[in-house]
Amino acid sequence: MEEEKKSLNFLEQIVEEDLASGKHGGRVLTRFPPEPNGYLHIGHAKSICLNFGLAAKYGGQTNLRFDDTNPEKEETEYVESIKADVKWLGFNWTNDQELYASDYFETLYQFAVELIKKGLAYVDDQPADMIAAQKGNPNFAGEDSPYRYRPIAENVDLFARMRAGEFPDGAKVLRAKIDMAHPNMHMRDPLMYRIKHAHHHRTGDAWCIYPMYDFAHGQSDSYEEITHSICTLEFDVHRPLYDWFIEKLNIFPSQQYEFARLNLTNTVMSKRRLLQLVQEGLVSGWDDPRMPTISGLRRRGFTPASVRNFCEKIGIGKRENLIDVSVLDFCVREDLNKTATRVMAVLDPLKVVITNYPEGKTEELSIENNPEDTESGSRLVPFSREIYIERDDFMEEPMKKFFRLGPGLMVRLKGAYIIKCDDFVKDEFGNITELHCSYIENSRSGEDTSGVSVKGVIHWVSVAHAHKAEVRLYDRLLILEDASQVGDDFKKFLNPDSLTVLSEVFIEPSLKEAKIGTNYQFMRKGYFCLDTDSTPENLVFNRTVGLKDSFKK
Ligand code: ATP
Ligand code: MG
Repeated sequence: MEEEKKSLNFLEQIVEEDLASGKHGGRVLTRFPPEPNGYLHIGHAKSICLNFGLAAKYGGQTNLRFDDTNPEKEETEYVESIKADVKWLGFNWTNDQELYASDYFETLYQFAVELIKKGLAYVDDQPADMIAAQKGNPNFAGEDSPYRYRPIAENVDLFARMRAGEFPDGAKVLRAKIDMAHPNMHMRDPLMYRIKHAHHHRTGDAWCIYPMYDFAHGQSDSYEEITHSICTLEFDVHRPLYDWFIEKLNIFPSQQYEFARLNLTNTVMSKRRLLQLVQEGLVSGWDDPRMPTISGLRRRGFTPASVRNFCEKIGIGKRENLIDVSVLDFCVREDLNKTATRVMAVLDPLKVVITNYPEGKTEELSIENNPEDTESGSRLVPFSREIYIERDDFMEEPMKKFFRLGPGLMVRLKGAYIIKCDDFVKDEFGNITELHCSYIENSRSGEDTSGVSVKGVIHWVSVAHAHKAEVRLYDRLLILEDASQVGDDFKKFLNPDSLTVLSEVFIEPSLKEAKIGTNYQFMRKGYFCLDTDSTPENLVFNRTVGLKDSFKK
């Protein structure tokens, strides 16, 4: 029993204790509460896996609640993308679990009126800078606002008139009346409502006052009777306020728990910063395959299972840390190794003429689709007298242990014959333009009786049958490992080589039928998938990840 306890993360332990003590009537209801002000990123994936996973493990439910209380930054496009991303990750919710904080505006307003009537909230006429100046600092008590002791009836009246639109933006705010000397700054009469004559993506112009995060979030949790409200560590200092509102309103006692957010090396994660990259055209969009967004990872060729496995692997804790992005690469490699079809594509082509192979002859050679998956079968790949190989599979002066082609050297062509390099052709600049090889006729893979053994196997495509395609190779978005130290300066650290476009790639004919959402292993080159920019005339492939960790620090 002790053993079992140890393997639980701290949230699972809390839930098990709550279930054992019968708290919340043995119910577990979590929520994932994105603000629809951008696309979800891999950090959100951690929160999604945690909230949905925890509830599922203990027979509970999870609400998808849009925290849409900030009209100027929120858009329906973001709501739709968030729903698509959560579904893609493999999590589901019912219609009545899709909720919007904006649906609670009337309820929240009534909660605020209740606090005013209890003498626990007041309307402050001072401008924001004045209110901030009176807040004091952690070592010094703040000062009371001159409006702090306004009569209740006057507060009720003013708050109603704020709602009715009588005042311009910034003219008044509603504040909780707590303690201007509280050691926790969030408890020094925090703002509850501000005036914003702004159009909301769902409520339109019905409201011109909007609740602040601290007032909306906990009350929404409570209204939905969320049992375990899980958020990231920086909200730790907000918890006393979360509890204060719930206690004073005497509503359902939801409880907040904090865990360490995911930070990844060589990237930025906050939506605000990702939005800057999009708006300034530094990436092609939210789903640019270099972005740490879920849509970017999807487009890059990551699978839902690989993202979920990553979230599982990094675990849940209470200490801030920085996860190396190579862990994410490892997870996708591990998944794709099991599932991706092996195909041949030559990224940097060098033409080879097999001089003793009959002109005009084509053989269809059978090549296994995936040696890791016996069910996956095989396909036919055409072979002929002229093929492309990778330029770096030939060395004019081969170094020791170079088991590929060089003058007089032999290599096996994958699924085909052993060839020997007899000669090479150079252009006027000294670049190798063509190899002349001969093949060993009885060395065909699977029926090799030649008795010749070679160490190297290289991939190839038949010149006459190959299709030309574009390939996009990606590297880290930032050259800086830990972007948390540089704030908005992160743009100075963008990796100038984060995207390499290869436009003269030759792919085997089967890839002409490639579909978006299918993953391939280009033998010896990594995992690839068709990009959404692809057209039938111009196929574009993204490299999801190389076969080995090749990132140089
Ligand atoms: P960002 O700063 O990227 O906009 P956010 O926290 O403001 O993030 P929300 O839409 O408010 O974004 O977040 C929805 C949920 O996702 C919250 O519960 C939040 O704690 C969680 N979350 C956001 N970023 C991370 C992260 N890096 N790691 C884990 N959870 C995260
Ligand atoms: Mg937020």
